[in-house]
Amino acid sequence: MSQYLLTICYLIGSITFILGLKMLSNPASARKGNLLAAAGMSIAIFGTIFLYKDIETGEYLHNYTWIFGGLLIGAIIGTLAAKKVKMTAMPEMVSLFNGMGGACAALISLVEFNHLSKEMLSNPNPLFIPHEQTKVLIIVIGLIIGSVSFAGSMIAWGKLNGKVKDMSFTGQNILNLLMLAAAIGCATFLVMHPEQSMLLYVILALSLIYGIFFVMPIGGADMPVVISLLNSFTGVAAACGGFLYDNKVMLTGGILVGAAGTLLTILMCKAMNRSLKNVLIGSFGGGAKAGVAGSLGGAQGHHKEISLSDTAMVMTYANKVMIVPGYGLAVAQAQHACHELEKILTEKGVEVKYAIHPVAGRMPGHMNVLLAEADVSYDHLLEMEQANDEFATTDVVFILGANDVVNPAAKSDPASPIYGMPILNVELAKTVIVNKRSMKPGYAGIENDLFFRPKTSMLFGDAKKVLQDLCTEIKNS
Ligand code: NDP
Repeated sequence: MSQYLLTICYLIGSITFILGLKMLSNPASARKGNLLAAAGMSIAIFGTIFLYKDIETGEYLHNYTWIFGGLLIGAIIGTLAAKKVKMTAMPEMVSLFNGMGGACAALISLVEFNHLSKEMLSNPNPLFIPHEQTKVLIIVIGLIIGSVSFAGSMIAWGKLNGKVKDMSFTGQNILNLLMLAAAIGCATFLVMHPEQSMLLYVILALSLIYGIFFVMPIGGADMPVVISLLNSFTGVAAACGGFLYDNKVMLTGGILVGAAGTLLTILMCKAMNRSLKNVLIGSFGGGAKAGVAGSLGGAQGHHKEISLSDTAMVMTYANKVMIVPGYGLAVAQAQHACHELEKILTEKGVEVKYAIHPVAGRMPGHMNVLLAEADVSYDHLLEMEQANDEFATTDVVFILGANDVVNPAAKSDPASPIYGMPILNVELAKTVIVNKRSMKPGYAGIENDLFFRPKTSMLFGDAKKVLQDLCTEIKNS
């Protein structure tokens, strides 16, 4: 009876994962999707704790102190971290938590190999060997992928919070390939000769070092892509665990994470118009940067400034204003002030929309989540293609803390590291107003010619302060 109930729990878990994932693809349903999948995960976890029976002994799990002790510590750390984290530090947290998933998968492999060795010693029947070899194969796959994901994610976390610096040396790619080949070679030998248990630790060490060396040279704007790739590795490693334990929900969950991570990696590469190979062995953000701007800017000519009162006037008399949010808006936490400006302008009869670039900010969907937090209606958010169709009929484009995603060098300068990345064609509008604090470059570290064009005016200052002052100015006008 308990086995049937457990199967139903796993079925509920698997269905909620799939529905939750589907709901996550739309900002309007994303929160509910997350909660639904979390509820399904809880049912699967508690089902396992209370309903799982060991096939051989027929006994239920009994070590509840360890299980609930671990659950409690994890839940406290997870809740505190999620409450404390700033929107701009989300990729860091994703990376850290993803690394923990990879470590779990690697530990499962180590523990299960130990169990298997004991089983093989007590039952040396040669008929069992093919079955055991399949298990060893899954164990080593889980160990390699889980360890690479753990070590790589830890380095990615360190890089994102500035504690670890990019590092590369001549021949690093070849050394990486050799290390991976050695790990796979040892794994193959271990599958053929499971009694050589020491090899498991050699594979572990090689995989950990490979994970570190693999992420070390990747820099700057490529980090979110790498994190997404490592996320898919963790999913595959968890699926190996599901296979080992014959646990359907773990298998489904792992495959879903693996597939979702892979798709996200491909989508991010597409949004930056770069191949995955180029991301992994290129040096965007880490190496030399074409056209690097000085901190004071001005290398390409003179920029024009606009006052707050002139900005207020230009916007009030416009028929259509398009807001382009970027990373700076997130840093300034200016989403509420931005929504306030939208409401004031709308009351004055101005049509206001938002142009959302797929990689604006520091992770996919960053701007959507931020604006949703301030209750901006989803109907007002335009995807890049839609926005590009509307710029020609826009009177004022108001760029708030965005830089790379509106840089025309992506279209015109083959030497630029962002060359080929699709951008928002803001220069098609009648007037462009850019809010940022200085002439410093954005994440890619390159000069932006848009700021020096005749149609463009700079409105310097912190995005939140500028928006609040602008709202007051328009209200009083
Ligand atoms: P950028 O990093 O290019 O520019 C942000 C700008 O915001 C800076 O130029 C900065 O200028 C300004 N800024 C910072 N703080 C403030 C503030 N408090 N008030 C006003 N302005 C501020 O951001 P974008 O969103 O345009 O581009 C995102 C970048 O991240 C791209 O290079 C993209 O490829 C990369 N990326 C994004 C991914 C994603 O998934 N979203 C994935 C991979 C990469 P100043 O210092 O002068 O104020």
